[in-house]
Amino acid sequence: MPGDDTAPALLFSADQIQRRVTEIAHAIENDAPPDKTIHLIGVLTGGFVFLADLLRAFSRPVTMDFARCSSYGSGTVSSGSVVWSLEPRDVRGRYVVVVDDIVDSGTTMREIRTRLGEQRPSHLRAACLLDKPSRRRCDVSVEFVGFAIDDLFVVGYGLDHAERYRHLPYIARLDAEPASTRKAPAGAATAAG
Ligand code: IMP
Ligand code: MG
Repeated sequence: MPGDDTAPALLFSADQIQRRVTEIAHAIENDAPPDKTIHLIGVLTGGFVFLADLLRAFSRPVTMDFARCSSYGSGTVSSGSVVWSLEPRDVRGRYVVVVDDIVDSGTTMREIRTRLGEQRPSHLRAACLLDKPSRRRCDVSVEFVGFAIDDLFVVGYGLDHAERYRHLPYIARLDAEPASTRKAPAGAATAAG
């Protein structure tokens, strides 16, 4: 694990991210029927920065809410058990987009899609800024993806390591090791944010 003085290596600059966020907002606008208000549901905590920028990139009114759930395990391997602490309501009949920072194993996004789907939205979509397809452990659709990346551990733009680095306006890789071989601190939540 890098020490506190290790600078993460740049992967996507703030400008690259902003351009991609604008493209994603346009793609969502094109997908959403004109008579539907786009309802964004940001996944806390990591999804809040992407949500905040995405929200402001729309040229038509949108509404928003938050969801929070965590999948816990040891190391970087998700146990697959998901605990909810904030569950959005009132999505029936609406055009809903779940907005998260990154889809890794897919456990979190699959759980959120399943739960929200039970409330019968008219449309259910997912948007993530980053996707790690090589880490996927379950079948889940993500309609709007910012960037697909290799098996790297990344930080910045809402993404943290032990609650650090969320404030960075860019995305960086924390170390050169594949995420699947890294060890998290004992007892750490693997997908709590
Ligand atoms: P999943 O349920 O395995 O798809 O986990 C998704 C969550 O794990 C994301 O929303 C992040 O909070 C966290 N996560 C996965 N990969 C990374 C990473 O490279 N950096 C920081 N957080 C990550
Ligand atoms: Mg997250």
